[in-house]
Amino acid sequence: MNKGIKLNTLPQELVNQIAAGEVIERPASVVKELMDNSIDAQATKIEIKIVNGGIDLIEVSDNGNGIPQENLPSIFKTHTTSKISSFEDLNNLLTMGFRGEALSTILSVANVNLISKYVDSDIANEIVFKDFDNHTVKKAARESGTVVSVRNIFENIPARRKFLKSAQTEYKKILDTLYPYFLIYPNISFVVWKDSKKVIDLRNIPNAKADIVEKERIESLMKEDFVKRMVKLFYDGGGIKVKGLVGHPSDHQKRISNQYIFVNRRPVWDNGIARAILSGYERYIPFGEKVPFIVLIDINPDLIDVNVHPRKEEIRFLNPFRAYSAVEEAVKKAITGVTSFKMDTPMINIQRDGKIYTPRDISFKSNQSGSVRDSLLFSKEVFSDTGYVKSIASEKSEIEFKDEEQGIRNIFQIFNKYIVIEFDSDILWIVDQHAAAERITFEKLKKSNGDSIEKQNLLVPYTVQFSESELIVLREMKEFFSEFGIEYTVTDTGIEISSTPVEFVNTDFKKFFDEIFALSEDISNLSKEINKLKEDILATMACHGSVRSGQYLHREEMMDIYKKLIVCENPYSCPHGRPAVWKLKLSDIDMNFERTY
Ligand code: ADP
Ligand code: MG
Repeated sequence: MNKGIKLNTLPQELVNQIAAGEVIERPASVVKELMDNSIDAQATKIEIKIVNGGIDLIEVSDNGNGIPQENLPSIFKTHTTSKISSFEDLNNLLTMGFRGEALSTILSVANVNLISKYVDSDIANEIVFKDFDNHTVKKAARESGTVVSVRNIFENIPARRKFLKSAQTEYKKILDTLYPYFLIYPNISFVVWKDSKKVIDLRNIPNAKADIVEKERIESLMKEDFVKRMVKLFYDGGGIKVKGLVGHPSDHQKRISNQYIFVNRRPVWDNGIARAILSGYERYIPFGEKVPFIVLIDINPDLIDVNVHPRKEEIRFLNPFRAYSAVEEAVKKAITGVTSFKMDTPMINIQRDGKIYTPRDISFKSNQSGSVRDSLLFSKEVFSDTGYVKSIASEKSEIEFKDEEQGIRNIFQIFNKYIVIEFDSDILWIVDQHAAAERITFEKLKKSNGDSIEKQNLLVPYTVQFSESELIVLREMKEFFSEFGIEYTVTDTGIEISSTPVEFVNTDFKKFFDEIFALSEDISNLSKEINKLKEDILATMACHGSVRSGQYLHREEMMDIYKKLIVCENPYSCPHGRPAVWKLKLSDIDMNFERTY
């Protein structure tokens, strides 16, 4: 028995402070809650003031609908929200993050002051808290919307205050919190003040909609060159919509940066989704490389659980693989649509030289430099921030554009390994002959329907020995390989190859099949996994059935590789993701010699 132990009801402020640990961890969490509220209030302009990393002051001011005077005290009470009106709403609203506890929690850990003018009222009001339970409401001057000032966070909770990092770090975390809003609300203008200096000023983009990323906004925010070349995503199926922008394959990078994922407008991080995005780039970018992306997923709220994380930075998909495959497919579709060298197609997203140009870029640039082709041949520096065309292009007509050999001044081989191509347009390509040939064969195999493959029958069958378990697989895969031009019969000890695609004249088939077997962890699964492994098998075939490094090439052979490469869907890398072409501009070479003329 608990003799004489007095039970205490915890004061509400203390209850809130305890709960605050989850919701309000640091100044950035306050910023997030205030931003959400301003956006919910339909604001089109939001100003954020940060002093001393938000430790001294966080102020968010909006031009939204405002708060009726009679509601002012109650919005600071726990679980008070104007956003949940009926029980049916509850599930949806919770997933959107409305719990009616942000303001009351913030109030329990900081000094809060709020001024608001409700749209339907003529006057503004201010609520000032002396302490958690004592407030006054009085008339104030404000034209529209709401401003919330949060001062001296955690001042009353030293244990939490102690855990704050330096002002600079807290400020950085605030920016990390703000960026996602900037990205997906191009319809809202944002201004950020840091210690009374204006550091970010983003105008709203006319006619832009929330939740649709606009390149213009991203450019003014990130100031990065790759943004221009980002590719639009679109996917809609199985209750999942995927949209946003992903980096052009030529803009792969080592760093994990500029990567954003949103689910139902909430910024989240999900490793599975990030992996799925990269899977969409498989064979388009070198292995292990990253790309910038802003991916927005819209999914029925019933199919996710956001409450796994108190600040909702993570989510759980009821069926993660559905989400992953939707994302992967969206990315694949988007990038195969742009990585095409096709030259005589309409000028929609034509790209060459690893860069993508929109019709607007082209016409704008061609006016200045004279030629579409030249514009296309220059790499990213051409479209510098200033819009200034740095390189001087010579006069060329669009007709020449169709003839691949035109414009090539020189083509030769070095080290029996690389093809060097010098273009009239002051561009130099160094092509890895094997990687390029592999890419060409790979795409040819991928497109082939069996009869399109040029086969040669061997006069004397080529015999290769294999183990029993390998022979089982070879028997199962006979039809598959036959479709790609490799015909064989299986004997007790090996196979007898009777026909191969022409490219396979010098192939070491023992090595070739060993590599195929190595594709599966368990060789006995190989034929079951054939669909999954198909691209890998074709890549292996391409590797064996292509011009090798160390092989001498005649001019015609080099031209042939060049011509076939530029019509590939993805000419930038071999099917394993190694680069196939290295492009240099004369100006790059000049720069290396510090030559300025
Ligand atoms: P929730 O956002 O979950 O409703 P909050 O504690 O964040 O809970 O806010 C409580 C209520 O205060 C909101 O439901 C809204 O009615 C009102 N409110 C807060 N901030 C603003 C704002 N900037 N503009 C208009 N109304 C606001
Ligand atoms: Mg809120």
